[in-house]
Amino acid sequence: MSSEKLSLLDSIEPTDSRTQEDKKETELTDFGYSRQYKKVRISVKEGVLEKEQVDVIVNSTSDKLELRHGRGSKALLDAAGAGLQAECKQKYPMGIQKGDVAVTGPGNLRCKFIFHGSLKRYGSQDAEKIHMAFISKCLKGLDSKKLSSIAFPGLTTGLHKFPKKVAAKNTCCALAQYIDANPNTRVKEVRFVIHAEDKETYEAFCDAIKVWDLNPNLGIERKEICRFKMNQISVTIKVDKIEEERVDMIVNSVNKSLDLDKGSLCKAIITAAGSKVAEECRRDHASGVSEGNVVVTSAGNLKCEKLCHACVPPHEQKSNDVSVKVLQKIVIKCLEKADKKQLTSVALPALGTRYNNYPPRVSAAGVLKGIDQFSKSHTRSSVKIVVIVLYGGNQHEEILKAFVDEAAPYQGACSGPERGTQEFCRQQYQIELHPPEYWTEYTSDKSVKSWKADCDDDSFKLLDVDSTTYKAVEKLVQSTWQSKKLGHGRDAKGLSDLNYTSINVLKVQRLENIDLYENYCHFCSSLFNKAGVIGVFDKLSSISQGSKDIFTTDCLEEDSVLKKELYPEINEHFLFHGTKPETYKKILSQGLDFRMAKEYGMFGQGVYLAESSTKADQYTDPRTTRNKGEKRMFLARTCLGKIHLAKEKKEKLQRPPCFQTGCESDSCEHSERQRCDSVVGEGEWLFREFVTYHHYQTYPEYLITYDRI
Ligand SMILES: [Zn+2]
Repeated sequence: MSSEKLSLLDSIEPTDSRTQEDKKETELTDFGYSRQYKKVRISVKEGVLEKEQVDVIVNSTSDKLELRHGRGSKALLDAAGAGLQAECKQKYPMGIQKGDVAVTGPGNLRCKFIFHGSLKRYGSQDAEKIHMAFISKCLKGLDSKKLSSIAFPGLTTGLHKFPKKVAAKNTCCALAQYIDANPNTRVKEVRFVIHAEDKETYEAFCDAIKVWDLNPNLGIERKEICRFKMNQISVTIKVDKIEEERVDMIVNSVNKSLDLDKGSLCKAIITAAGSKVAEECRRDHASGVSEGNVVVTSAGNLKCEKLCHACVPPHEQKSNDVSVKVLQKIVIKCLEKADKKQLTSVALPALGTRYNNYPPRVSAAGVLKGIDQFSKSHTRSSVKIVVIVLYGGNQHEEILKAFVDEAAPYQGACSGPERGTQEFCRQQYQIELHPPEYWTEYTSDKSVKSWKADCDDDSFKLLDVDSTTYKAVEKLVQSTWQSKKLGHGRDAKGLSDLNYTSINVLKVQRLENIDLYENYCHFCSSLFNKAGVIGVFDKLSSISQGSKDIFTTDCLEEDSVLKKELYPEINEHFLFHGTKPETYKKILSQGLDFRMAKEYGMFGQGVYLAESSTKADQYTDPRTTRNKGEKRMFLARTCLGKIHLAKEKKEKLQRPPCFQTGCESDSCEHSERQRCDSVVGEGEWLFREFVTYHHYQTYPEYLITYDRI
């Protein structure tokens, strides 16, 4: 441990709570940190948990109490002896609920009891709550047994994949809450024993203990409060940890001397950013920053690109208006810095509250007026997104209310950029992905990411649709059916012998496959980005005068459920894809993967889709064994993006051609942005062809089962 590091610790000192034996065993390892919180000594050490001499050792294992599950648990079992597993099975034959405590004797360990618990993976529902509640239950268990010392592993940092910092912070938070709520607790000593190989967890726990009661955002519930527009800027107000915000620039609040160790917000940001930022401040801004001014530095380990350090002067007690203006000017300066660096998104705290004692209303008015004024005076600015991150702390409720009240006049005034505009595409690109509103298994109240974190398997759901959707899909099948074209063309071979004139929909099911959907959304998102840069993509009828718009979309009525969440801006359409009996199951789990195609069509190797159910029907059985049995076709969401219109066949295409005038080659050196995203074949043949060249450019949302009549 470097001496510089130690010097940073005011109230922290080397632990002295070891026995002689402990010292021998851990001679070569670090001696750890400890601190006193009220009557409790809390320490972090490198070591071997099962060797600790305490009243209770905590063990993290599976909910079935299979102690071989998990590295720590297995090591503990090996040290305690096989009787421990037998005791678990005998006392808890059904296992335990997530977050509950199972109590056993110590086996061969030098403690009095072992508390076992089973926790949840990071990101899954209530994982953080369950983790914190478990710590609290362990302390309560210790108290109820009238015991005083307990040793924990670095809970949740292994199998449960919590970011180490989150695990450490939540742990401190749970401890503080328990100690605060139980002033008469007998608990005297809490030890975190981290394996010597796990430096990162060790550091995270040490750091969390260092900043602990300086960090008021421990334990706040993260949530989005509201979202509204101020001219071209979308503003979000949320309760969260600003240092974890994914934006281009985070605004920090500092004192004149740029002393990053002062102020709780600043400390939290700098702890997360790392020491390089502090070094940069000392080196490049040795004279500090004057009141009302801002300086920009790199952002160290933060997820943003830049940190903007704003020096808020003391609150003008005599006049709130003066203070509002001061904050307003600072906010504008911050946004101007972001604009100068061509950044898009900025996170702001409730400037002036806490350290500077600005009343919450003054902070809210200053921050929001600053953004508003900037949006009016910098209409062409690169800054499009501002997130106001409220941070918890003593005045949390008051601050929240002040911002919500101040934001009220802006809400509803404008509901976002107009559909069909470049601006709309740019905004769509920034949006967090959610499943469609009408999905019933993976519902839209959770983001795609949190759904994925929650489900450990990759299974998909095939669900019967409601009657409105059924009717809409059936109607689309019927209205795009072209009986006159039935049986004509090379791919229709054998069909005219079957003697049928139409098809009859038997079943419509919706595929909810979160992996596939996420990939599809990412593809759409990249197209929104492209449209935001080069302009909204032309629809077919605008590309060529003689071309009709896509039949499947044209047939949809304005209020059709199939039009919900369909984005014409990126040429997203529902298109049919006929599938043979042996392949549809593969498509449900893997999507339309042209890499598996046995032969390529008129426009090379891609996924071929149809705007007419008659055409899709041609591909639902082999040409040599046509029959009238049950058939299947998909109605797939497809984002065609920038369309290349081909009048002749191009069998050698491996990807869509470039759209540079005079080039239009699929093998040129022009950039990907200058490449089309799909090919529509419209020539002297019976049906138009719609071809995509990317595995995730289609999402096979509806499976239609039908027969020929
Ligand atoms: Zn080119």
